[in-house]
Amino acid sequence: PAPVRGDDHPVVALTIAGSDPSGGAGVQADLKTFAALGGYGCAVLTGLTAQSTTGVTRVLPVPADMVTDQLGTLTADVGLDAVKIGMTTDAAVARAIAAALRDLRAGGRPPYVVLDPVMVATSGDRLLAADAEAVLRDELLPLADLVTPNLPEAAVLLGTRPARDAAEAAEQATALLRLGPGHALVKGGHLDGPEAVDQLAGPDGVVALAAPRVATRHTHGTGCTLSSACAVLRPRHDGWEPAVRAAKEYLTGALRAADALVVGGTGTAPGP
Ligand code: PLP
Repeated sequence: PAPVRGDDHPVVALTIAGSDPSGGAGVQADLKTFAALGGYGCAVLTGLTAQSTTGVTRVLPVPADMVTDQLGTLTADVGLDAVKIGMTTDAAVARAIAAALRDLRAGGRPPYVVLDPVMVATSGDRLLAADAEAVLRDELLPLADLVTPNLPEAAVLLGTRPARDAAEAAEQATALLRLGPGHALVKGGHLDGPEAVDQLAGPDGVVALAAPRVATRHTHGTGCTLSSACAVLRPRHDGWEPAVRAAKEYLTGALRAADALVVGGTGTAPGP
């Protein structure tokens, strides 16, 4: 589709995601990304985490009916250009988000929807209840214009093993389209090589999008930042491919700047 709204106002972008108090991932990263890219950010919280730069000690879901009420109250007033969905916490919350998105679609002028199927943090901590994976696949994937799994997440959604090279990642991106999203971006950060090569599948086929691999330990929140950038940039671009390319450029800059930060003791383990 053509851009949903004109160029007459900053893009209004909503993140539906969890809180990361350390500010590197989750809603905090999403809002910073929206602002850095010129958008106006809104946020619906799906869960709280107790978290530092080294890991998660607790996840507390927001009750699903409160997620419904946040979304209903917000969207009755605010017209959204783009939505990014991150941590959906549990099956009831994931169902509540799907129901609200279906209502938004039925209301006309639907926003662009990016789904980052967050399951496990880099630190190894679970961010999604196991019984929510099926809801993510069956109810949220078909509502997404773009889904942005990393290799382990793509494998869970497809019920297979993680891709071991770029060719397998491209196959999995194409296979994901059969589950209903408009486009699928399978991120290759977990593969080896001097470049991070992502595979973007859409109705016209698959393209490989490469970016230099940035040597930094500060990769916490990389997926959150990329999916938010894709969402807020899409209304200003003519298609997902140019929007994703621009989002990857922004992410590369953010990773390059990360080593200047002095936040936390040890940071996360060396990332993908
Ligand atoms: N906390 C929240 C709320 C998140 O949404 C995410 C990732 O999506 C993380 C933590 C983990 O981020 P990472 O795996 O990049 O460390």
